[in-house]
Amino acid sequence: MPKEDQNELNKLMRNLPGVEKLLQTPVLRDLGQTAPHDLLVEAARQTLDETRQNIRQGQFLFTDLDLEVLAGEVARRVEQSLESSLREVINATGVILHTNLGRAPLSREAIAAVAASAGSYSNLEYDLESGERGSRLSHIESLLARLSGAEAAIAVNNNAAAVFMVLTAFAQGKEVILSRGQAVEIGGGFRIPDVMRQTGARLVEVGTTNKTYATDYESAVTPETAMLMRVHSSNFKIIGFTANPDLKELAEIAHRHNLLLVDDLGSGTLLDTARYGLTHEPTVGDSIRAGADIVTFSGDKLLGGPQAGLIAGKKEYIARLRKHPLARALRLDKMTLAALQATLQHYLRDEAERKIPVWQMLSRQPGDLREQAGRWQARLERVWPGATIVQGESTIGGGSLPGETLPTWLLALPVPPDSSINRLQAELRSQRPPVIGRVEHDCLLFDPRTVLDFQEETLLATLEHLASQDSQ
Ligand SMILES: *Cc1c(COP(=O)(O)O)cnc(C)c1O
Repeated sequence: MPKEDQNELNKLMRNLPGVEKLLQTPVLRDLGQTAPHDLLVEAARQTLDETRQNIRQGQFLFTDLDLEVLAGEVARRVEQSLESSLREVINATGVILHTNLGRAPLSREAIAAVAASAGSYSNLEYDLESGERGSRLSHIESLLARLSGAEAAIAVNNNAAAVFMVLTAFAQGKEVILSRGQAVEIGGGFRIPDVMRQTGARLVEVGTTNKTYATDYESAVTPETAMLMRVHSSNFKIIGFTANPDLKELAEIAHRHNLLLVDDLGSGTLLDTARYGLTHEPTVGDSIRAGADIVTFSGDKLLGGPQAGLIAGKKEYIARLRKHPLARALRLDKMTLAALQATLQHYLRDEAERKIPVWQMLSRQPGDLREQAGRWQARLERVWPGATIVQGESTIGGGSLPGETLPTWLLALPVPPDSSINRLQAELRSQRPPVIGRVEHDCLLFDPRTVLDFQEETLLATLEHLASQDSQ
């Protein structure tokens, strides 16, 4: 480094204020009225440390390091640490069950039920008729059993917990027979073989990755066997030369040997997806009718409710689960129960498609989506040259119906010459609320299918705002 630069650097370092001096600036004195002192001190230290590092790396050479600028940076950090990090986002990706974006948004009725249960006392575990202690699960048990066509049902924290509980309760120290093609990873560290090990169940893999026959299960039965298990291939597809026995055949084998048949459906659905132009995703009713003793599925996949693990099946097994020590460890909280009950009631009243956002999105028609994307384009083309609409595909996501798509229309915004895709996406993420879209062929794409009604205006205003910012 030339000598003058070294001198300049030393001068910058010497001129840096101390923490106390920073905290005495008007901005931070103001902020200090409301923000905790230790947060201010911490943010001031961090800002100064980083500034010193930047100076050493030459990033601040020959520029002014104004006291006000530094104080502004400290204030920004303090404000950021005071606001909540979990916030609403606009999902314009067209992925209906986006696990990273919180899966299923709740219906209006479910949201109201959550708010009511959260903000007041309730009869959560209180029997209003007898005035005695009641069961929190009573609010959903018979509803869930009726809708799934099972004798009984309970619910726990999520489907991973449901599978864990069923294996622990019925297969600990025993063998579970599973097709090799189903010893899968569901995602986020949930691998069926690992889960089995954790519960103390011994996995007995049969068949091959692509083909497993009923006889493979049958010949693997030993005196140590507790159950046959099927795991739905939620997030992948094996196509071509494949075979898997019907659940009915598995039920026949299981029951002939006095074994349990457990079906982990993953998404599980109460409505037939074939009605929406999709492949038939096995319904909970299908599995129960085929003879599964226990069926497990998620509350926040195609059911369209809160995160929960639903377990439906034969009375005697559900009764044992209800009394299992894990039932307490994995139990649902009152807000989830409220949302779950409200969601299930939509199915009971036969209004799921109209009321549950996931099903509203699934059932939207291309013509309607084209019209909406067209309205977006008409509004944006005034500020965003080249804004257009294109045909595309929405996906189900969330480990349901892999490879299946729904035809849609998207708003496509080209990247202005003075910007870049990465910069635009970063800007979209920094908006309030952040907007998450898709990128294809150097265009930003926005799918109306997953944008909630009340977010539409905000989305368009945000895109307009971005356009005017970029043209400056
Ligand atoms: C999604 C899924 C799970 C996990 O369900 P969560 O509700 O996310 O815990 C388990 N098994 C299968 C087959 C799944 O698709």
